[in-house]
Amino acid sequence: MTVIAVDCGGTKVRVARGGVGGSLEGIVESATPGHLAALPEIISRLAGDPGGATAVGVGVAGLVDAGPGVLRWMPHRPGRDLPLGAELSRRLGVPAVVDNDANLTGLAEARLGAGAGMRMVLTVTVGTGIGGGLVVDGRIERGRGHLGEVGHMNVDPTGPACACGRRGCWEAMASGTALDRAARLVAASDPRGALASGDVDGVALVVAAAAGDAACGAAVEAVATAFGRGLASLVAILDPDVIVVGGGVGAIGEPILGPARRAMMEATSGGAHRAETPVVSARFGTDAGLVGAALAAGGDW
Ligand SMILES: [Zn+2]
Repeated sequence: MTVIAVDCGGTKVRVARGGVGGSLEGIVESATPGHLAALPEIISRLAGDPGGATAVGVGVAGLVDAGPGVLRWMPHRPGRDLPLGAELSRRLGVPAVVDNDANLTGLAEARLGAGAGMRMVLTVTVGTGIGGGLVVDGRIERGRGHLGEVGHMNVDPTGPACACGRRGCWEAMASGTALDRAARLVAASDPRGALASGDVDGVALVVAAAAGDAACGAAVEAVATAFGRGLASLVAILDPDVIVVGGGVGAIGEPILGPARRAMMEATSGGAHRAETPVVSARFGTDAGLVGAALAAGGDW
């Protein structure tokens, strides 16, 4: 049985053919369109002829009503209340399921990935923003529909502007966007430093830090520390068996996770008296959203 898997983030839309067991083939991608209304067209163009696919599963970085498959809002793009499931089903001629991308990433990691075998798996997806997916006993926890919007925990009301329109959200201080901002600040403060030539973004910052540049290293550590403090809040509330970190920033691995673990332990109340919460990289890396979309399209959610 083959399904179409779609992962729509704040920067890219990726589409693949998936097996319901989690395998992926033929990944294609395009930039996320400037307005929500253009999403069905982009996704169906990338998907092409559905061939023998039996369903399409879609994860989107936004507020989704998973039952009717309606995309309510995406912090990174204008537009609202898009009936994405119905629209894709009409265009592709197969049933469509739509969910929050971090929920589907969490489903993939909890069922088949770094959280497999554990009861309560919190997956934190760190890319352009930060999403959260809580899976307990193999099922996505939804609250009243939108549980896990962890990126918009208010950390500092005087902090940097967030894509959601507020200030000082966790994702404004600890995501790929925060690494990009840190890179610009380092470059501006030292025009002849490690970021003097080439791209000035989070990737360049992490590369320069790994090569031993002190200013870049301190900037990466500051972002990772902000990330770890947010994890401490989540541990205080949820006490999960494991925290799986996915997305592009999660894929960086130890340069982020190492300082983040230390900051998490320092900021966890009673941290010295409780078992340390494991913080691990996602098994499926930046493909976890697609794997979860394939699982959802197979009816396995
Ligand atoms: Zn926000």
